[in-house]
Amino acid sequence: MQLQSLGAAQTVTGSKHILKTSVGDVLIDCGLFQGLGAKNPAQVPEELSKISAIVLTHGHLDHCGYIPKLVKHGFHGPIFSTLQTGEIAKLIMSDNAKIQAEQNRKKNKKIVKESEKSKPLYDLNDVAQTIPLFEFHQWGETFSWKGLRITLESAGHILGASSVKIEDNDKSIIFSGDLGRYTDPIMPDPKGFSSADAVVMECTYGDRNHDRSHTPESDLINVLKNAKKKSSSILIPAFSVARSQNIMFYLAHIFNKNKDLKVPVYVDSALTLAVTKLYENFNDFHKITKEDFASIHRHMTFIEFESQRERLEKDSGSKIILTASGMLTGGRSPYYLKHLGEDKNNILMIVGYQAEGTLGRKIVDGERVFQDGDDKLKWLGEVYIAKSFSSHADQVELLKWRSQILGLKKTFLVHGEQRSLEQMQNLIGPSAVIVDEQQCYSL
Ligand SMILES: [Zn+2]
Repeated sequence: MQLQSLGAAQTVTGSKHILKTSVGDVLIDCGLFQGLGAKNPAQVPEELSKISAIVLTHGHLDHCGYIPKLVKHGFHGPIFSTLQTGEIAKLIMSDNAKIQAEQNRKKNKKIVKESEKSKPLYDLNDVAQTIPLFEFHQWGETFSWKGLRITLESAGHILGASSVKIEDNDKSIIFSGDLGRYTDPIMPDPKGFSSADAVVMECTYGDRNHDRSHTPESDLINVLKNAKKKSSSILIPAFSVARSQNIMFYLAHIFNKNKDLKVPVYVDSALTLAVTKLYENFNDFHKITKEDFASIHRHMTFIEFESQRERLEKDSGSKIILTASGMLTGGRSPYYLKHLGEDKNNILMIVGYQAEGTLGRKIVDGERVFQDGDDKLKWLGEVYIAKSFSSHADQVELLKWRSQILGLKKTFLVHGEQRSLEQMQNLIGPSAVIVDEQQCYSL
């Protein structure tokens, strides 16, 4: 077997790992690059034209967002994943097709010549062609494809997220996918595998451990107390998958225990609502109980109609707005930034990674006035950056996950910035390889 990465090599986005096996090329994840200078080729690279099957570890855009482009280009093989990952990917790919259409509409507004207009990578029709290719398997079940043996196991990262082991004759390799945290209040522990010849491991937090002195609950309580003092509102832009459900879960818990901190919470994102319904439907795959969801629905209002939004705009009382996108680029976030940004008492709570080039990153870097298309936006109030929320294993947890795999001859390090990759390489030793994009590695 050989490994070749076309994404998430010395960066954290665009995951695409090709495994060249004795029966054909299998692609593990097929994600979009995100952030500044994202390189998502309009022409499908030659290597991806030869793919026979895809294994999808989870439904985040940087792992599934390029699949419809491949399908548009002619890919018609199976896409193996858990059912939950398939359901999330469907929502994420559809949402992205709509975002691309909207971005292109804006970009092409002043371009007259048809030939000069930019085109989206794919549209909703391509997403519709992609859905039937999914073939679902459960964690722990080993299935066979053309003689390869493939097993998915829980990765603990988001709903349905998996690590995958692929065996070809007497060789075996594990792909970690994105790994979650141990003893997380919401997700199960990453399960992992007991043996393999090689592992391809994510290193997002390879250079550091999470600050355990803060918890999501303590961060939210800090912000709520602060907002109460100032009778202000809190804007929380959050990723629709996992992070928003986490916020709702913690807020419901806080309100149940501290009635005096309770404020109305409005959740305004169609994608967040759809993903939350998936979390509710797949109740056995995380730790949010039916009672927790009942609490969430008691304490929170989901905005589904324009009339609700109009009423909310006129309501000057203290409230929490939980919306998307998490990096304040697109979705409803800019609308609320505009609506709440000029009141110095309001608090903006940042709860996730902000990629370079996004509005969220500008705010984290200290900018407070920005141009967003034709709109001038500003945020004059406090910005609270919470670092306690993470659905990624940290350095200690990554090493713990890897240590249970016996017989490893090689560890391929991916999905990390240079510093993270180098630190993991130092900790693991000479068998660890920092994967270069395009380069082929033999097992
Ligand atoms: Zn992920």
